[in-house]
Amino acid sequence: MVRSRFKALALLSGGLDSILAVKVIQLQDIDVEGIVFQSSFFNNHKVHNIASRLGIKIHPIDINKELIRIIEKPKYGFGKNINPCIDCHLLMISKACGLLKKYKADFIITGEVAGERPKSQNYRALQLISDQCGCGSLLLRPLSAKKLPETRVEEEGIVDREKLYGITGKNRKEQIVLAAKFGIDYYPQPAGGCLLTVPRFSDRLRINLKTKKLSGTDLALLKFGRHFLTKDEEKIIIGRDEEDNNRLSQAVPEGYLIFELDKAMGPLGVLCSTEYHAKENIIKTASLVVRYSKLRNEKTVRVKYFKKGGEVHFLSVSGKDHKELELEHI
Ligand code: SF4
Repeated sequence: MVRSRFKALALLSGGLDSILAVKVIQLQDIDVEGIVFQSSFFNNHKVHNIASRLGIKIHPIDINKELIRIIEKPKYGFGKNINPCIDCHLLMISKACGLLKKYKADFIITGEVAGERPKSQNYRALQLISDQCGCGSLLLRPLSAKKLPETRVEEEGIVDREKLYGITGKNRKEQIVLAAKFGIDYYPQPAGGCLLTVPRFSDRLRINLKTKKLSGTDLALLKFGRHFLTKDEEKIIIGRDEEDNNRLSQAVPEGYLIFELDKAMGPLGVLCSTEYHAKENIIKTASLVVRYSKLRNEKTVRVKYFKKGGEVHFLSVSGKDHKELELEHI
């Protein structure tokens, strides 16, 4: 039986390249549905709007646990920060391959552009992913297809190779021209989508990897506040503003110590450990809470500390006490 219409599953990040890949395939009269990957490290909340502009249905897939396992031990290493991009792409594309049958789709499309990223999107990395994803012959990169080996999708005439593109490199000029040609003006500016590419977040995550603090709550705590590391590798977080304080107090798990000024408004402090809390670290956290408050120049300030739902304790410190103690700002 000859199929009247084919269907592609697109990896939709919401970035320009993935939008263009969908458009190029839609223009060949092929149905497209999107896979939207979710994790603690990237937020695709704009994708819903983009999918509706493209007129496609999307399927959210949570890869948080698998991505954490990859970050703990990436087979192909990290990029500049703690971004395991080759492994991450491979994970996403392999997942999409496994979903072809479920969504009655014939092939996968991605917005990958050969040479766009020196490590994760060079020709060798793209080939490696095709070889290992489990459906390489059904994996089409419409924006760079003409510069890549022909896939089964093209050989079998499902897609007309002549109507695909041969875009390569970091320069986004061709993509911007193409977007204008297709009347697409709803794409975000590049970069900033994945926290794993952000240096400060990566530094914080490295510490959590070392101390094996990789629960959803510990990862959520990485996103806000000032972070310090004691010499025995306990993490201290100090809220920067009211919003930080609110988010911290919601995210703090049971057992972690919470610090507040006793009789004044100020930053919230958290000592991130459920185990025995060394007195020295309690003093450091209390002192940092004072240091970042309006009372920083007072001789001594009373600070209260407690576990969620637990007994409240008090101590008096100065905003300078933490200086006496070794502390690393991360
Ligand atoms: S930038 Fe982040 S989401 Fe994108 S491939 Fe790399 S690790 Fe994965």
